[in-house]
Amino acid sequence: MLNAHQQQIIRLLIASHGMSRTAIAQNMKLSKAAISTLIKEMLHAGLVEESIPEASGQGRPSVLLKMRADSAYFLGASLLGEAITLVLIDMHGRALANRVLPLNLDPEQLTHAIADAIPPLVAAQGISTDQLIGLGVTLSGFVDEHQAVCVQSALLGWKDVPLAEMLKARTGLEVSLENDAKALAVSEKIFGLAKKVRNFTLISHSDGIGSAHFFQGQLHRGAHGAAGEIAHCTIEPGGRPCRCGKRGCLDTLASLTAIRENMRDKAIAAQTLPELEIQAAKGSRAAIAILHQAGNALGLAIANIVQMNDPELIVIAHHPGAFDGLLQTVVMQAIDANVLPSIMGKTPISTIVLDDESWARAAASVAAYRFLIHLPE
Ligand SMILES: [Zn+2]
Repeated sequence: MLNAHQQQIIRLLIASHGMSRTAIAQNMKLSKAAISTLIKEMLHAGLVEESIPEASGQGRPSVLLKMRADSAYFLGASLLGEAITLVLIDMHGRALANRVLPLNLDPEQLTHAIADAIPPLVAAQGISTDQLIGLGVTLSGFVDEHQAVCVQSALLGWKDVPLAEMLKARTGLEVSLENDAKALAVSEKIFGLAKKVRNFTLISHSDGIGSAHFFQGQLHRGAHGAAGEIAHCTIEPGGRPCRCGKRGCLDTLASLTAIRENMRDKAIAAQTLPELEIQAAKGSRAAIAILHQAGNALGLAIANIVQMNDPELIVIAHHPGAFDGLLQTVVMQAIDANVLPSIMGKTPISTIVLDDESWARAAASVAAYRFLIHLPE
């Protein structure tokens, strides 16, 4: 078992692309000799490995320590699409294998489907069960503060489903549930663009819009687990009705669902956002108007986040080709137009493209994150 210092070393290594013993010692305010002893045990246990960077400039480059990719494995299941996607990742966040399973909305049957798929998936990679640390599940909706119960999901039609307990009973694995945008933020924090960032916001632009925040290196869940529900921030008071019962929510103006509805209402010859962008580029005023409305609403919502939280980074996750044209331009303009001039242009905005596996990988990251923050004593 790892002691508290070794757990801290693991956190430092995960948060970096590798660190020298000297840098670890300085960070932890321990002697280099003490660090070397701790690391010797971790090398012996197969948790970390040494890598020697290319020599640059004068002197011998110091040996960097990194987590070994094969030191631990995590599973993730996404319940966001029309099927369940199950993915296996290693300690570097790389997806090694996946399975697509039929989605049965009955929690009991869903539990059986996931549990039955795990042993062959893992065995095919030659991984032993003791290397498999946990299972993360991502879904659209609210999850309780223990990440064990799906409190409510309109998409799944669930209320108070203790899915983590059900899956644990069938698989023997530690199971953590997480809302979709929060899972994606966790994934970017431990394996992606936000690895070295302590304060950032992720915005997911999909059929609905989600967001999640990291403050001081910690995921912000809020008092009821509902932090980051940007979709239902009122952007247009008294605007069009939203599925949540309110009016003028961000989702009614800028989500892919809203954009598609607008395309139908205005009888535009486009089915998807990339096709709408093509119409706008050709000069269709109706297409330009829809993209302006969505971009202004999304930009205003992001500007309010920047103004309130002053994050180091904003990450926008979007579908392929769905944040490249006029929509992106208008979002950027609206952000700049709605923050104080003194912070205008100071928040970097990065984008990532969602693919079929993104949500399942994010779910697996949730299991990895839980492992890292609750390492056994
Ligand atoms: Zn709403």
